Amino acid sequence: MAPIPGSGLAKGLAVTLRTMTRKTVTEQYPDAQPELPPRTRGVIGLFEENCTVCMLCARECPDWCIYIDSHKETVPPAAPGGRERSRNVLDRFAIDFSLCMYCGICIEVCPFDALFWSPEFEYAETDIRELTHERDKLREWMWTVPAPPALDPGAEEPKELVAARKAAEKIAATQQAEQAEQAGQAGQAGQAEQTGSGERPQQAEQHRPGEGNA
Ligand code: SF4
Ligand code: SF4
Repeated sequence: MAPIPGSGLAKGLAVTLRTMTRKTVTEQYPDAQPELPPRTRGVIGLFEENCTVCMLCARECPDWCIYIDSHKETVPPAAPGGRERSRNVLDRFAIDFSLCMYCGICIEVCPFDALFWSPEFEYAETDIRELTHERDKLREWMWTVPAPPALDPGAEEPKELVAARKAAEKIAATQQAEQAEQAGQAGQAGQAEQTGSGERPQQAEQHRPGEGNA
């Protein structure tokens, strides 16, 4: 059957009308920031304090784009008579984002929770060499990492939080004890001063120059 003349035009107009009445999905970036999902793979943040320089991330990275330098440091024994220990100190941690393929393997394999995904994405450069970002920048991105989702009601408190809470309580208790000790010492010093100030005039009177000779 021959097509009805003008049916193509009518179909086209129908599509246009349908599209016109739908809600637009265009994001007005950069005037408005996009609403990104919480698990967005924008960039990798480094939490340096957790990094033990185990090199696992650098070894497992399929693109070999993680650069780590470190040196060994000797730590004195924790208790008298103990043995000295050595530990790795991080000198350099850099990621070349011109090579990174955002696979997330480094984050998955890190045994010490030192690497995290950040939704930050505004780090385009005009020179490819500037896409190698050093530890300071990676640390800066760490503060843009979203908080983890809330635990299920009744879930066991994570052991890291328990350990952090206990450490904070211990520090607070030590500080309180120190403050109390300082306050006690200040009180004793004040008492001694009062007692001393009561005696001094008598002593001064006893040893007033010239009195003994009169
Ligand atoms: S995300 Fe993948 S490619 Fe990028 S640094 Fe990590 S392991 Fe390497
Ligand atoms: S795997 Fe984790 S702890 Fe080990 S070097 Fe990489 S970031 Fe540091």
